[in-house]
Order: sequence, then C-alpha cells, then structure tokens
Amino acid sequence: MPVIDFHIHVTLPKEYAPWFLEWLRPILEGDPAKELRRVLQTPQAMLEYLDDQGIDYAVCLAETNPLVTGVSTNERVAEFCSYSPRLIPFANINPYIVADLASELERCVEMGHRGLKLYPSYQHFYPNNHRLYPLYAKAQDMKIPVMFHTGTSTFPGARIKYSDPLVLDDVAVDFPELTLIMAHSGRGFWYDRAFSLARMHAHIYLEITGLPPKKLPLYFPDLEKLADKVIFGSDWPAVTNIAGNIAAIRSLPFADETKEKILGLNAAQVLGLTPC
Ligand SMILES: [Zn+2]
Repeated sequence: MPVIDFHIHVTLPKEYAPWFLEWLRPILEGDPAKELRRVLQTPQAMLEYLDDQGIDYAVCLAETNPLVTGVSTNERVAEFCSYSPRLIPFANINPYIVADLASELERCVEMGHRGLKLYPSYQHFYPNNHRLYPLYAKAQDMKIPVMFHTGTSTFPGARIKYSDPLVLDDVAVDFPELTLIMAHSGRGFWYDRAFSLARMHAHIYLEITGLPPKKLPLYFPDLEKLADKVIFGSDWPAVTNIAGNIAAIRSLPFADETKEKILGLNAAQVLGLTPC
C-alpha cells in the first residue's frame, strides 16, 4: 500500500521570510538553510529523503504568503515536481495578488499542478467570500482538489479567525462536487467542527498534518466511522520525524484497513492516483 504525504513545503531558504528560518532552527537542529538546501537542492535529493522516511508520494506546496512565511512560486514548484510523478505539485493563488483567479488556476494546471492549497489565515480572507467563487467553480469543473489551512497558527501576521473550518460549510453547499481538504483538521479548538463537516459533506476530508498521531483517538473519538475521509501529511520542514509519525499511526488501535486508508489510500483516491 502506498504511503502518501499530503503536506510538504518545498520553499527554499531564500524564499522564506528571515524570521521563519530562525523559527526552524531548533526543529532542524543546526543551520536550517543548510538542511533545507540538502533536501531541496534537486528533486533527486528530495526523492532520496522521501525514500529514507518511507514515503512513496508527496504533495509539494507552493505559497504566496508575503505577509507571513514567504513566497515560493507556482512556476518553481511545478518545475521542481516535473522530475518525478512521485512529487505532486499544489498551486497557491492569493486573491489579493491575482485578479482573475479562475484563469490563474487553468494556467497552474497547464504547468502541472494537481491541486490547490489556500492559506486564508496568512492571506486574510474568509474562504466563503464570493470573490473566491469563480475559482471554486473552475476547480470543481476541472476536478481539482482544494486544500485549506484550518485551525490555529502561531506565526506572526497570521489571523486565525479566517481558518475556522465552519465557513467551509458554505463552500461545500455551493460547490457540492468540489473536493475540499481541511489541513490540520481544525487544529486547536475546532476538531469537532471539522469532524462534523467531514461527516456531513461527501467531499470534505480531514487532513491530520501537525497533529500528534497518538492524540488522534482523543481528538476524534469516532475517527473509524470516517475512515474514508482522513488523510496523512507531515508539514515538513516544520516536522522532521515523518517515519516516526508513520510508525505511530501504524501502532494506533484502529483496524489495519483504516490505517492504510489514512496513510495513503484516501489520498490516492483524492489525487486520482493509480499507485505504481
Ligand atoms: Zn503546512
């Protein structure tokens, strides 16, 4: 069964805001820029890193977050991922920077992107703002999944009111065929909302990036009832022991089938992957 990491940042040291590299220092134990360069220098180096961690496929995220973390363009991330089908690029479209959101999505898909990651709390918009609706209509038409940061963030400049999963209810009601993924599953104080939304709406998924695996049964006591809706991700480089997290998920008191779904099968379904 494939292991898919749905949440890897491939932003280069020079693309990050300087404070973010300092924030990474204790996590990467040493010189963060050097460690990032080691893994991201070439797509081959990234694939070796994924092999070491036991990951078959990785969703690689672009970001246009000049107010918070930095800017890693859709062009560069698509180019980086074009080396291997194991690297799956997700574009970011910032509604304050791009005028025609739907056309930009078409352009991103043409350059190879397979999904969208939106950052409402870093870009300061509510996901149910109608400004975004042409983008969602286009994504629904093109069968492009859309992932949102949901839940808290401690980064300077982030405004967490924009990442309440509840507002995704509007989007799911208005775009019933659009696949929506809640990154971090409402981390902090919105786990119940995130879980209810994933239960109510056929195409909303919980993505568990950044949550300690052993806490999952506590945060989601009925998780196995939604075994088809839970997706694993790491948030590398903010989390480095990905292999450890995969092992921790494998040791949870869930059915083996549930764990395989969390670690890859659900993501493969969302991505339309036929695992090799
Ligand atoms: Zn992330």
